[in-house]
Parts: sequence; structure tokens; C-alpha cells
Amino acid sequence: MSTELLHDLDEVLLMGPGPSMVPESVLKALATPTLGHLDPQFIELMDEIQSMLRDLFRAESGLCLPLSGTGSAGMEATFVNLIEPGDRVLILKNGVFGNRMEDVAGRLQAEVETLDYEWGTPVVPQDLREKLASSAPYKIVAMVHAETSTGVANPAEEVAEILRDNPALYLLDCVTSLGGMNVDVTEWGVDAAYSGTQKCLSCPPGLAPVFFSDKAVDALRSRQSKVPNWYLDVTMLLSYWSGEKRVYHHTAPINMLYGLYAALDLVLTEGLDASFARHRAAHRQLVNGLDAIDLQMLVEEKSRLPMLNAVVVPEGIDEAALRKRLRQEFLIEIGAGLGPLAGKIWRIGLMGHTANPENVDRVLEALEKSVSE
Ligand code: PLP
Repeated sequence: MSTELLHDLDEVLLMGPGPSMVPESVLKALATPTLGHLDPQFIELMDEIQSMLRDLFRAESGLCLPLSGTGSAGMEATFVNLIEPGDRVLILKNGVFGNRMEDVAGRLQAEVETLDYEWGTPVVPQDLREKLASSAPYKIVAMVHAETSTGVANPAEEVAEILRDNPALYLLDCVTSLGGMNVDVTEWGVDAAYSGTQKCLSCPPGLAPVFFSDKAVDALRSRQSKVPNWYLDVTMLLSYWSGEKRVYHHTAPINMLYGLYAALDLVLTEGLDASFARHRAAHRQLVNGLDAIDLQMLVEEKSRLPMLNAVVVPEGIDEAALRKRLRQEFLIEIGAGLGPLAGKIWRIGLMGHTANPENVDRVLEALEKSVSE
């Protein structure tokens, strides 16, 4: 046996839709010796991670946990804990991850309705206002904050304003936004939110930070039926993540949690506002550089995400061949379009540790050469 496949791996600059570049301190943390999942020192670390997650979500109450699993586990967990069969759920959607929400909620036998928008355009808050005025109450209104499949920033704050006096729970996907742009669950009155480690937190994929407000926890505790998923049942997970005496639920991914701890430390030490500003600066630099080589953005300026840039593939260019060349010749990964945008856009990620001026210069230079030759 040998591990030569690992030694031969290229050092690729990750500028796709995630995972993003993982800093040295996080890689080092991942390699820290493994403790037992009920070891007192490990429990201390778990408590500290929860406190750091509260800072990250700007959560003044409710609960924050890092679930075992990727961002999709976070999505599944928020829906599975809050939905009972027949519950009315409204999803505002304009991309792959809104569609996934619809699928997840439907599998739980919710009565799902949607407001649909063209991919590459944002959700229109006024439509929600009208929908709420003309429909029976919803238990949950859900939306993706940063739609990674299109590069659109959905209006999370305006939706929050509309939902402020509505009994519905506000569920927000923050997989791509958390750590890279403002997410304020307290100010916005968000009731359930989830994220992933591999985007703006710059930790490898494997954990899903989630938030539940006090209102969501009340809804969870007053369920008529058991949460239909054992692994993601938050009521059971809480007996491991909180309280004087911790009870085994499943063996926590210890080393991933070390990595998350180091990654959260980096983000919080930099400061959330400074991190958001760095993402915006990298985005502006990229857009200016793309403009200079005549590459157009898909999304109109006011709805663009800083950390995920959808670039229109020019007429006559083979989009897959260009991505292949970037990977082979320049050791840069960028993403392809999905669904109706397949073949039509590239997705350039400026997430977390990836978002710095040198990386932007590198991808612009590679694109300029590859588009012109
Ligand atoms: N939601 C959004 C907005 C995403 O971008 C992603 C992944 O790209 C997910 C959910 C699912 O996350 P994962 O692939 O980590 O399961």
C-alpha cells in the first residue's frame, strides 16, 4: 500500500463555487490528535464553537450548532425539524438550491407553494407581500440568501421586513453568504438558518452550522409527531451539545470540529465587517478586470453576490474547454453553469481565504490568455 496518489495531487487554486482555499492554520488544526467525543477538553471546545457560531450568525438568542454533514444536511435539518405532514411552506426560488428546498420540503409531505423567478434575477419582495395577503397562513417561508447557481443575492432583509409581523417561520439558506456578507438573524428575525464550512468559512466540506430561533425551538418542541429523521433530530442532538451532562448521540467528527474552530477563529479575528469588505473589494477588482477583457456579468449590478461571480461565456468559446485549460495549464478551478445556465456561464468563486487581490489577478490573467488564444 502507498499513499502516492495523495502526494501527487496538484496544488489547485480553488476559484469555483466551493470548496474554497483552506488556510494553513485550518489544515494544521485538522491534523491535531483526535480526542474522544465525550472528553472534557473536547466538550469545552464544542461550547466555544457554539459561542463563535452565535457571533457569526449574530444570534443573541436561540441555538447554534455545527451539524455533521455538508450544507445539504443543514438544509435537510432545518426542514425536517420544523415540518410536519400537511404544513404549508412557501419557497421563494430562482436557482438550483431553491429547487432543492422544494424537493426536501415535498418529501416531508409539506404542502409546498413557490414563487419562481428567472435564473439570474432576484426574488421580488413585493410578490411575497401580495402572496401573503391572498393566501392562508404558511408555517414556513424559505429562501436562499446567496444563490450559488446564478450569483444572485436575494433580498433577505426586505423579505425579513415583510415577514416581521407574520406568524410564519423565516428559513434562510446561508451556505454561501455566511462569513462573506452580512447575515444578521437577530436583526432580521430569521427563525432557521444553515450554512456549510466550505465556502466563506474556508474549512473543508463536512459540517453544517445551523441556527434555530427561540420561536423555531418552540415550534420544534410542540410537534405532534417525531422528527422523521433520527440523525438530524435537533431535540436529540441537544442532549449532546448542551447541558451539564452530555449524552452520546453519534460520534462527532472530532477533527472536522478542530478545523471549524480554527476557521471561525480566523473569520472572527479578522472581524465580520472586515471580511465582508475584503469580499466586496475582490469582487470589484474581478468585475473591473473582466470588463477590461470584454467579459460580461450575468447578474445586474445591484443583485450581484461578491463571493460568486457568474460570467457570460462569449459567443464562439467552448466553455468546458476553457475550464479544462484553466485547470491543466494554470492550476485554477472555476465552476460551470448549472441547469438552464449550463454552457452559458462560468462561476468564479471569491470565497473566504480565496478572496484576495493576488488570486483575482491570477484568474484574470489566465482568462485573458485563454479567451484570446
Ligand atoms: N445551498 C447553497 C446555496 C449552496 O451553494 C450549496 C452548495 O453549493 C448547498 C446549499 C448544498 O451544500 P453542500 O453541497 O455542501 O451539501
